[in-house]
Order: sequence, then structure tokens, then C-alpha cells
Amino acid sequence: MQEILKLKPVFQERIWGGTKLRDYFGYDIPTESTGECWAISAHKNGDCEVTNGPLRGKHLSEVYKDHPELFGGAKSSVFPLLTKILDAKEDLSVQVHPDDEYARREENALGKTECWYIIDCEEDARMIYGHTAETKDELSRMMDEGEWDNLLESVKIRPGDFFYVPSGTIHALCKGTLVLETQQSSDVTYRVYDYDRMDDKGQKRELHMEEAKKVLSVPHKGNSIVPETFKEENMTRTRYVSSSYFTVEKWITEGEAVKEIEEYKLVSVLGGQGNVNGIPMIKGDHFILTSACKKVKFEGNLEMMVSWI
Ligand code: ZN
Repeated sequence: MQEILKLKPVFQERIWGGTKLRDYFGYDIPTESTGECWAISAHKNGDCEVTNGPLRGKHLSEVYKDHPELFGGAKSSVFPLLTKILDAKEDLSVQVHPDDEYARREENALGKTECWYIIDCEEDARMIYGHTAETKDELSRMMDEGEWDNLLESVKIRPGDFFYVPSGTIHALCKGTLVLETQQSSDVTYRVYDYDRMDDKGQKRELHMEEAKKVLSVPHKGNSIVPETFKEENMTRTRYVSSSYFTVEKWITEGEAVKEIEEYKLVSVLGGQGNVNGIPMIKGDHFILTSACKKVKFEGNLEMMVSWI
């Protein structure tokens, strides 16, 4: 059984994207406005290919279906997680995602709870996170009257910050931000405000105000993250979040570190280089430690974001 699945990212052009995925990670991006790197994904809108071992050339969705034993028995019918890196050269639209129950009923999809690790950002970068309305009526009125400056809360961000964004949270990445996103494998987004921007045909992008009003949490529940650090031999682990959707940690290794693992894990190398069970890995590589992998040996200096269910 294949212990490690190295994956080839899928890139997505976005009107708000830029070139940081090339400048920072060295990826061969398709256009000068590449907004998203779907780094570990089995979603139909961007299904990553395995690039090593006997399963080379297969898509992650096929491997998940054909080899449930690599994913702890594959308890959900679709691969449940999605790791992306986002380059916001411009502001993204203000949006909200539904929870599982609403998404299943109305969209035949998973809901979307996500979280962000700020890899890099400009000096005065911010993001939109939460709103000021106390009741549904107040929220609805402020949305209808376009009182966005009063309604939306924005926070200053710095590299290394982490934000948990449960379904129902109003949010937007703002320009000058490079982010690693861990999320449920879903692509359902309700856009509530797009800064009245026009596209090149003079059209505004579609909004989804009614759906958004139904799924938005009122009042906003802030989720302040208190990272927990664990020191192990030649490895430092920082845990940011552990919810019913996913656990996300940063692992930093120095030298040789051996780790026993129980569940399969999604891993993105954000810095350094080394070997993982003898397979060379460098900054920008993404892989899955499958359930066939009971013990992992890391060598070298690696900075990794790791997530699992
Ligand atoms: Zn989002």
C-alpha cells in the first residue's frame, strides 16, 4: 500500500489573483492573475493528480474511492477536506458559506467551514471578519441599505496569524494577502457585497443576498484562536484549531524527527526542505500521509501545515 501520496496542485484564475504563487512558491502558474492553488483536493472543480509511486497519474477522488483503506476506511462518501493557497492581489468579495444541513438541502453539497493561516501579507493588510448587527432584522436592513461600512468588521493581520471561519461567518480576504486555507471540500459561496465593482463588460458580479441572510450567524460569534505548542524530539507542533470538521497544526522539524500517526493527514510544506520517509520534499510540495503510514520519519528542516479529521 502506498504510504505517501504526493500531489500536483490545480491552479485557478481569479479576477482578484496575482503572481505570488509563482514569486513566493515558484509554481508554474497559468496566468498573471492566478488566485488559487488547489493544493490537496479531490473536489470535481479541481481534482489533484498523484505524482509518485504505483498510484501515479490517478486523481485523488479515484484513489479515495478505490482505496478506502488508505483513508482510515473513508468514512465520508467524498474526500472531506480541501487545502488551498490563495493569492489576493485585490480584495475578494464579502461572502458567507452555509453549514452542512443547509448546503445538503439546498445545494446537494457539503457546507463550508474554513480556516486561514496567513503565510505573508503587506504591512497594513486587513481582512473582513464578522459584523456588528445584533438581530436578523438589523442585519437585513443594513444589507438592504448598503450600510457596509457600519456593518462589516475588519481586523489587522500579520504573517503567522490564524483565523477560524465557521460556516455562517461573514468574511473576505483583502488585497496583499497570501493565505493557506484548510476547508471542508465545498465550493458553495454566497456573495453579499462586491464593492460595486464592474467587470470588463460593465457588469457587476451576481450577489446572493437572500441565501446569505438565511445562513449568516447573528450576532457574529468571534473565534479567537489561542495556539497551543507541543515540543517533541526535533519537532515543534503548534495546534491552532481542533473542531469536528478538522484539526490544523503547524509542524516544524529540525534534524530527524519520528512521529507515529493514527489518522491520514494532509501536509503542505511552507518552508525548508528535507525527506519524509525517504521522499524528498521542498517548500511548495503537498502530500497525504495515508493510513498505510504508521510511522513517519522526517529529515531536514521542514515547516509544514498539517490537517486531519
Ligand atoms: Zn470563504
